Amino acid sequence: MPELPEVETVRRGLDDILTGHRIEAVHIDDSRLVQPRSSRAVERRLAGATVTSVGRRGKWLLLELDTGDTAVHHLRMTGSFAVDGETLPHERLQYVTDAHIVRYVDPRRFGTLEVGKHAVMHSMLDSKLGPEPLEAAWDATVLRTSLRGRSTTIKAALLDQRVVAGLGNIYVDEALHGAGIAPRVRAGTLSLVRAERLVVAVREVLTLALDSGGSTLSDYRQVDGTFGSMQDRFLVYGRAGEPCAHCGRALRSATIAGRTTVWCTHCQR
Ligand SMILES: [Zn+2]
Repeated sequence: MPELPEVETVRRGLDDILTGHRIEAVHIDDSRLVQPRSSRAVERRLAGATVTSVGRRGKWLLLELDTGDTAVHHLRMTGSFAVDGETLPHERLQYVTDAHIVRYVDPRRFGTLEVGKHAVMHSMLDSKLGPEPLEAAWDATVLRTSLRGRSTTIKAALLDQRVVAGLGNIYVDEALHGAGIAPRVRAGTLSLVRAERLVVAVREVLTLALDSGGSTLSDYRQVDGTFGSMQDRFLVYGRAGEPCAHCGRALRSATIAGRTTVWCTHCQR
């Protein structure tokens, strides 16, 4: 599933293509994308609007419109966007603008599109999501406050979008390795020093991934069709049994918080 760096990379691509342009028509070819609303109602509501900006909150993409509406996309497992060209397999939606055709493609069909008034959409997201990890307001004190009293593992806590928005299995494992924190550490017991290290590690891995255009594992690609390269820079994700980049010992793997988790038992305590 795309995580913050992949969604942010898509946001940048959509912002270049859509911002300042008028949506002439919208074609929705899969009613599941917008359920429980009808495809026709969503098409009518979006047609004629001009995109004023493309934003992101956690793993959600937000098309801000001059009508006062916000169109909120979640890519889930396999959603992606492409621009112009021929109709693609598994295409679910087209935005036909005054300049381009933007195609939403989703083989497994878990992606969603919701449209509503700006304030309604933003408060819906704020009720589901904690702070943005790349914003200065998120620091070790904020993190520790959100972990206080939690008996879950730090792995589970970081996957919880209400603790911090946008992280998933890949970047949680990479950040914990960077911070030297074992995934089974009880979240509520994290010291301030270790919380500070974790905040730094989260920002470092997200920044590196953004610079790499995200990671390409299956269906994710950038809006212009190019692939990210962060998968070549993972230190733990997908590397169980391989040597730790820091100490050379074999990386260990287990299911933690319901997810395959890879870490170094020597470097991470
Ligand atoms: Zn190690």
